[in-house]
Amino acid sequence: MPDMLTKTVLLARHLLPISPSNKVLDDHGVVVQDGRILAIDSNNSLLTNYPDAVEVDLRHHIVMPGLINAHGHLPMSLMRGIGDGKKLDTWLRDIIWPLEANIVSRDFVATGTELAIAEMLSLGVTTASDMYYFPDVTAAVAIKLGFRAQIAFPIIELPNLYSNTVDECIHRGIELSDDYRSTTTIHPAFGPHSTYAVPSDVLIRVFTLAAEIGIPVQMHLHETEQEVRIAHEQFGQSSIEYLDQHGMLVPELQAVHMTALSRDEIARVAERGVKVIHCPYSNLKLGSGSCPIAELYDAGITLALGTDGAASNNALDLLSEARLALLLANDGNESPTRVSPAQILESATLGGARALGLEAEIGSIEPGKAADLIAIDIDKPGMQPLFDAHTQLIHTSAASHVSHAWVEGKLLYENGSYKRLDVEEIVASAKTWREKVLA
Ligand SMILES: [Zn+2]
Repeated sequence: MPDMLTKTVLLARHLLPISPSNKVLDDHGVVVQDGRILAIDSNNSLLTNYPDAVEVDLRHHIVMPGLINAHGHLPMSLMRGIGDGKKLDTWLRDIIWPLEANIVSRDFVATGTELAIAEMLSLGVTTASDMYYFPDVTAAVAIKLGFRAQIAFPIIELPNLYSNTVDECIHRGIELSDDYRSTTTIHPAFGPHSTYAVPSDVLIRVFTLAAEIGIPVQMHLHETEQEVRIAHEQFGQSSIEYLDQHGMLVPELQAVHMTALSRDEIARVAERGVKVIHCPYSNLKLGSGSCPIAELYDAGITLALGTDGAASNNALDLLSEARLALLLANDGNESPTRVSPAQILESATLGGARALGLEAEIGSIEPGKAADLIAIDIDKPGMQPLFDAHTQLIHTSAASHVSHAWVEGKLLYENGSYKRLDVEEIVASAKTWREKVLA
C-alpha cells in the first residue's frame, strides 16, 4: 500500500470521525493529499468525484484517527514490569531511580524508544508524549521512524548520566525546543517531574519560561494520597492551591494522574482550563488511587489517557487503557450520565490532542487536519457481528486487529509489517538489555 501523499481516496466500512464524537459513518471514506485530509464523503461519491485518485480499499475495516498516548516514558520499555508489586514511593526510590542512575544512556534511550514506538504502532497509537532523559535521542528516533511525539523534556533534581542539576535540564530542554521548532511532528514541552522532585523556585521558573517560549508543561500531579499529604506539610495547602497561588494552574498545564481530588480542586482545575491525563493501569498497579473521571467530564475538563511507562503497566495499549478507564468510572456510578464508550474513545483521540495543544492538527478526521489515521480489521471472529463500533473498540481486544497506521499520510505499519523500522533488529537489541538491567 502506498503513502497518502498524492491524492488518495481511502474507502472504509465504518468511519469514526470522533468529531462529532458519537458518529459512525457507514460506507464512508476520506480524501487525503500531501498527508492532509481534504474531504469526507460516502464511498460512492468519493469514487465518482475523484476518479484519478489512488484508491486504498479498507471496506472491511474501521478507520479512525490514530490513538494518542498522552503520557509515557518511552525508553522505560526496557524496564518492562520491573519492581512489580511495589507501591509508587518504594518502586521509584528503591528500584527505578537507582537503576536509572546506573543504566540510562543514549543507547538505552534509543533502543527503548524504538521498542516503544514499534509496540504502539501495532496497537494503533500514532502520537505519544514522552518524559525521559536524553530527550534529544527520543526526538531523533521519532523523526527517523516517522512517529509523532510530544517531547516533555525532563526537569528533575536527580544526578545521572543525562544531567547533574536542574539548570542543566532546563538548558538542554530549551536547546531541544529550538532545534525542533520548525518540524511538524515533534512537539517540545517542559516536563518537570512533580512538585516533590523539583524545588519550588525551579518550578516557578519553568512555568515562566514555558509561557515565554509558548510551549506546554507536563507534570505528574496528585499521583497518590501520600503526595497530597506531603504537599500539605510542605506548602501548608494542597499542591493545586499552591500552583494556583503562584500562577502555575494554567491551560497549558497537562496534569498527569490527578487522584485524591476534592470537589473544590476539581472546580478550580476546570475554571483554570488545566488538562488532565488519566493513567488508570499504572495507578492501579502502583496502588496509587484513581482519578474521578466521571466528575471531571461533568465539570467540562479536557481528559486524555496515557499508559505511563511500561515499567509500571507493562503494555503501551491505549485501547485497553480506555476500557479500564471506562469500567472503573462506571463501577458503582448510578448516575444516568455514565461514561460512554464514545466519550472514552474521544479522550483517547481528540481529548489527547486537546491536552497536548494539538487539536488543530490531529485527534479527529476533519478537513485540514493531518492524516494521522489507523484502520482496524473487522473481519475477525471476535469483531462480528458488529452492531456498535464504539462499544466493539472498547470492549474487545480490538487493538490486536489494528491493520494500518499512518502519520501525516505516511504509512508506518501494515498488517504486521513496519515500513520504517526493522522490528527483528529492535527486538534483538531489546533482549540484550535484559542482562544489563538485571545486573
Ligand atoms: Zn509517569
